[in-house]
Amino acid sequence: MRRPDDIGDENWVRCGFRDCYKCCLETEMLLTLDDYDRIVDAGYDPNEFSLPRDDNDGFAQLRNVDSPIGLKCYFLSDKGKCTIYPIAPAGCKLYPLIVNLDTSETMIDEDCREKEWFRKQEYHQSQIISITSLVNTLLIEQED
Ligand code: SF4
Ligand code: SF4
Repeated sequence: MRRPDDIGDENWVRCGFRDCYKCCLETEMLLTLDDYDRIVDAGYDPNEFSLPRDDNDGFAQLRNVDSPIGLKCYFLSDKGKCTIYPIAPAGCKLYPLIVNLDTSETMIDEDCREKEWFRKQEYHQSQIISITSLVNTLLIEQED
């Protein structure tokens, strides 16, 4: 994983705090259609990893499951590692960057354990574009 000041050719900010998996506990991460299809194509059952759109304001969302480390994302191992990181939802790779839907402001999520560290970083314009584009995609794909 890389720090935000070393993003190379990729658009993503990736968390480098390997001892932390706080954001994968009780996750509310939404899935774009691309995310959903990519994970299904990898052989995972959508009924197991995703909440139905009908029950979730028209959004597909990662499902949480009980575990010895707490209520966790379906894809988090009991050792706190993401088991699908290369194909994980785009929002997971951009987190803790989020967009405040009320103000359209790009910001660091209050729930991130290392939010103070992230708030001191300078973000590449491509990262801002990526999170904004992701939110727009989710809203366009939201089912009524
Ligand atoms: S898909 Fe991976 S990175 Fe995303 S919430 Fe689940 S375990 Fe965490
Ligand atoms: S809560 Fe923050 S510091 Fe912890 S894994 Fe998630 S992004 Fe990284």
